[in-house]
Amino acid sequence: MHYNQDPIVALATPQGVGAIAVVRLSGKGVIEMVNQLFCGSDLTQQASHTIHFGLIKQGDVTIDEVLVSIFIAPHSFTKEDAVEISCHGAPFIVEQLIQLLVAQGVRIAEPGEFTKRAFLNGRFDLAQAEAVADLIAADSKLAHQTALHQMRGGFSLELQTLRKALCHFAAMLALELDFAEEDVAFLDRKDLKILAGALIENLTPLIDSFSLGNAIKQGVSVVIVGKPNVGKSTLLNQLLQEERAIVSPIAGTTRDAIEGTLHLGGIRFRFVDTAGLREKTLDSIEAIGIERTKQQLSKACVVLYLVDLSHMTLKQAEEDLVALGLEGLPLLKIGNKIDLAPAAALENFKDYLLIAAQAGRGIAELKGKLLELVAQKPTDGSATIIINIRHCDRLQKSKEALEAVVTGLGEERSNELLVVDINRALQALGEITGEITTEEILGEIFSKFCIGK
Ligand code: GDP
Repeated sequence: MHYNQDPIVALATPQGVGAIAVVRLSGKGVIEMVNQLFCGSDLTQQASHTIHFGLIKQGDVTIDEVLVSIFIAPHSFTKEDAVEISCHGAPFIVEQLIQLLVAQGVRIAEPGEFTKRAFLNGRFDLAQAEAVADLIAADSKLAHQTALHQMRGGFSLELQTLRKALCHFAAMLALELDFAEEDVAFLDRKDLKILAGALIENLTPLIDSFSLGNAIKQGVSVVIVGKPNVGKSTLLNQLLQEERAIVSPIAGTTRDAIEGTLHLGGIRFRFVDTAGLREKTLDSIEAIGIERTKQQLSKACVVLYLVDLSHMTLKQAEEDLVALGLEGLPLLKIGNKIDLAPAAALENFKDYLLIAAQAGRGIAELKGKLLELVAQKPTDGSATIIINIRHCDRLQKSKEALEAVVTGLGEERSNELLVVDINRALQALGEITGEITTEEILGEIFSKFCIGK
């Protein structure tokens, strides 16, 4: 794929006031263009990876004192000539500087354009480029480790191995087609069936890992639901170990959804304590809270259904669960106030995790159960976990094509038909790493980056 290396510029640091701002340029002639505005050493005569102090001037007017870093192609992130100008972090200075550069003929970069150029120039593959964005957005230990693993090529390597094996078979089948009249067989169909089966086996855990990957990337939203006064706010406070919600013995105190974040096993859990769910309420403020609860429930990854063991029979608890519309949601059922509960209740609520929120009993078990629900297998970030929905989609497509190959082999379909499915599988895998790309795919990916990346 060709593109012209027209010079581009963007602010690489966040918008707003800061101690320093970095304005980044890449493309043909950027060193010369910056040199036109720079009072200091002649930038065009400097070695790569050197930093130079000087002034940026517009005619006689000094805009700022800056440090200019020079990167000469191909030794830069984009593999083009590149310059980074570190100036004082005032939006006014940055704006002036960028305007001056635009006047020199530099274009404002599109979102993700620096990373896109790095990809097009072969610095890394597409999956790795996407990991750059994920790494920057990572807000938990596992999100960081998973993105880093992917950026360093862990996932890409796995895909390449799968693709290579398939390519070999596609080539063999094509060869057989070329020699169709001679009726020679280059390929053992049994081997192809074994390979397709093995590939499906390799793809399946990758696809399955996406639910965990998504949890790692987005965080896991946990909604605490139950009748008023069962101890939802107390539980939330125990989980977060701080006074986040108002605890009161008067029913209906928690009027609004309250959020708090907790990191468990490197994954970010977002807890929401909801307004007490009551079927009927005369209080209009509480009614709004209940409406919000329903919205929260629709977005929840896990629902903690809390009941008060001292006030409820199992039958009531289960009836309420149905009445609240919680059936079918990813539920963790919890019986609270074991300190007040009659012994029979502890016997009856076998399916429930029994806790005493106020005294903090059972909280560690609850955290363990939550983590188990999200990450069936503990992970340290070294295993490949799919965190990108585009990758998951292409892996799924590839798996479907391979299943068609297996079916085709079973039905003794012709080589022509098998090649079509093998190529479909190859295409889908190739789209992940970018061996096969279209402008559309690149647009889909890089438009989600921010400007300056
Ligand atoms: P919410 O309406 O569901 O949020 O309930 P709260 O968290 O406000 O708790 C209602 C009342 O139950 C408060 O007086 C709490 O102190 C009390 N409570 C909560 N958990 C326990 C517990 O484990 N044991 C006992 N005895 N009381 C509890």
